[in-house]
Amino acid sequence: MDGGEPRRGQAYPREERRVSTIFGKIIRREIPANIVYEDDLCLAFRDVNPQAPTHVLIIPKKEIPRLADANAEDQALLGHLVLAANQVARQLGVENAYRLVVNNGAGAGQSVFHLHLHILAGRPFRWPPG
Ligand code: AMP
Repeated sequence: MDGGEPRRGQAYPREERRVSTIFGKIIRREIPANIVYEDDLCLAFRDVNPQAPTHVLIIPKKEIPRLADANAEDQALLGHLVLAANQVARQLGVENAYRLVVNNGAGAGQSVFHLHLHILAGRPFRWPPG
C-alpha cells in the first residue's frame, strides 16, 4: 500500500499537482503573513494555526511540492533551509529546545504542497510523535 503517493513517473494526485500554493502567494506578497526571516532562498513566517507557543514555517522560494520531490540539485538549498531554521530558532530565543518537522505527503499530514519545515518550540514534546 503506498498511501496514494505518486510513484516515480506517475502523475501527482489532484491535491499534489505542481501548482503554486498559498505559500507561493506569501512569497509574492499577494497575501499577508507574519514574516520573521527572509533571505534570497527562503522565507520564514508564523504558522496561522500554531501547534506550540512558537510555530514558524521555513519555506524555500523555489516551489518544491514535497521533500520527496527534491533532488541532487537541491542539496545546498536543503542545507540552507536547516541552517535558516537554526538561525530563526536563535532569533526567537528557542535554540536550546525546538523540534523541526517535515510532513511529506498527505498520508503524513502534509496539507500545503510547497515544501516547508515546521519549527515548534515553547512546550514539552512527546516521543514518539503523534
Ligand atoms: P502541513 O500540514 O505540514 O502541510 O503544514 C501546513 C501548515 O501551514 C499548517 O500548520 C497550517 O496551519 C499552515 N498554514 C496554512 N496557511 C497558512 C497561511 N496563510 N499562513 C501561515 N500558515 C499557514
